[in-house]
Amino acid sequence: MNNYFSLKGKVAVVTGSSTGLGQSMAIGLAKAGADIIGIASRSNQDETMKEIEKTGREFYQIQADLSKKTEINSIVQDSINKKGRIDILVNNAGIIRRNNAENFSDEDWDDVINVNLNSVFRLTREIGNHMIANGSGKIINIASMLTFQGGLKVPAYTASKHAIAGLTKSFSNEWASKGINVNAIAPGYMITNNTKALREDKKRYEYITSRIPQGEWGTPEDLKGSVVFLASNASRYINGHILCVDGGWMSS
Ligand code: NAP
Repeated sequence: MNNYFSLKGKVAVVTGSSTGLGQSMAIGLAKAGADIIGIASRSNQDETMKEIEKTGREFYQIQADLSKKTEINSIVQDSINKKGRIDILVNNAGIIRRNNAENFSDEDWDDVINVNLNSVFRLTREIGNHMIANGSGKIINIASMLTFQGGLKVPAYTASKHAIAGLTKSFSNEWASKGINVNAIAPGYMITNNTKALREDKKRYEYITSRIPQGEWGTPEDLKGSVVFLASNASRYINGHILCVDGGWMSS
């Protein structure tokens, strides 16, 4: 059974691994046997490193701003140089800006689209080329409930996460025959920095909680199993899929 899910000998790049969902997924992948290259722009990743080293795996951190087009090539080259190959890419880094649609600024729009969408396209294309040359790879994009729904006061975030579904399916269609599985995870409402403002709005917090069939918000821990599944042999015949990890939100 272990062979289905083992990532022994694999190398994973995880963006946004300093905290929240990315940190938890990086630790989950390491527990399954992968060495991790983690990318974040501002925060130090000491906590992630400590947890990954406890698993006996290696952790390399790269400090880089994914919103800057010019940094993508060096991120890719640095990542490949660390271990000589990349087997798994988790496109997790993301930001959110909240404002009424009628007041939403160009700056907020550009910032969100640059991190949540443009960097995912470019990193996937570049690391995908490396995976194509190797004849195998696993790419996991982090989508959202707002991949399917409109949300409130987050038009750029919603647009970027809808586009993640399109990117996942279009890359998957071209690369499934090249040994690369491209899939996505759509987390429901999870307790991280990203949802702090939402959880502080008592009325919305209570409304959202009451709409989740499982009756509770998810935690970063809840993504570990799904990411290992999509990064492992167990998902060999799964392509272009968006896996909701949402306590039942999308079915209610
Ligand atoms: P988070 O706690 O805010 O963490 C975001 C991570 O992304 C941090 O490691 C951050 O590191 C990194 N990051 C942000 N901008 C970056 C940049 N320009 N360059 C490099 N790294 C950057 O967020 P989260 O809640 O864990 O969310 C992770 C992903 O899941 C996002 O794509 C989010 O949209 C998605 N998601 C979250 C939820 C939820 O309920 N929390 C639900 C659905 C989907 P630095 O600050 O150091 O750069």
